[in-house]
Amino acid sequence: MASLRLASLRMRVLVVEDERAIADFVGRGLESEGFAVTCVHDGTDGEALALTGRFDLLIIDLMLPGRTGMEILDSFRKMDSVTPVILLTAKADIPDRVAGLDGGASDYMTKPFAFEELAARVRAHLRQPGQETATILKVGGLELNLLRRTVSRDGDPINLSAREFELLSFLMRHPGQVLSREQLLNGVWGYDYDPGTNVVGVYIAYLRRKLAVEGADDLIETLRSVGYRLREEA
Ligand code: CA
Repeated sequence: MASLRLASLRMRVLVVEDERAIADFVGRGLESEGFAVTCVHDGTDGEALALTGRFDLLIIDLMLPGRTGMEILDSFRKMDSVTPVILLTAKADIPDRVAGLDGGASDYMTKPFAFEELAARVRAHLRQPGQETATILKVGGLELNLLRRTVSRDGDPINLSAREFELLSFLMRHPGQVLSREQLLNGVWGYDYDPGTNVVGVYIAYLRRKLAVEGADDLIETLRSVGYRLREEA
C-alpha cells in the first residue's frame, strides 16, 4: 500500500500574515482544529502560493511587505472566483472592509479577534454543498466528519482525543485492510516517531474502549504480529 499521509485528507488553509505572533496563533489554532496550515510572512510568497491553487481557503492580512492583501486577492480572484478568502485587517475603518468585499473577499476579521470566531468563520465558509460530503467517512455504523471533527457509531456521538480521531480516520480510509504498526505509526504519528514505541497499541486500546458497544464484536481486529484491521461491517 502506498503510504497515505493524513495531510492529504485535511482541508488546506493558507495564512499570509507578516506579524508572526498572529500567524503562529492562527496557524497553531487551525492545526489543532484539524486543518493542514501553511503560513507565510510576506505578500510576494503569499501570492505565489495562493496562485498554485492548492488551498481550500485563504486567510490574508491586508498590510503586508511585498504585495498587499488587496493585490493578492485581486490576482487570486482572476484565477479562482470560488475559494473562500478571509481578510485580516488591523484597521476597523469601513472603507477598507467595503473595498475588501467589493474586491471578492468572502469575509474579513478586524484585529484583535478571538480565535474561536475566526475558526467558526473558516468552518462556515468551508461548509458548502458538495464539499461537506467529501469530508465524511462511513464504515458500517461508524461515521466520521473530517471537517467538524465528529464521530458517531449507530448515530451515538463518540468523543475522541485529537490523536484517537486521526487514528480512526486512518483506519476508516482503509476498511477491511490489514495495516501494520509501522503504517499506522507513519500515517498518524509521523516518520520521525520512535519506531520502538508501543504508542499504536496503546491508542488502539483507547479507541476500542470508546467505540465499544455492549454485546457487539470489537470493530478493530488484532492480527498477531501483523497489524490491525477495521471491520467493514458494524
Ligand atoms: Ca500586517
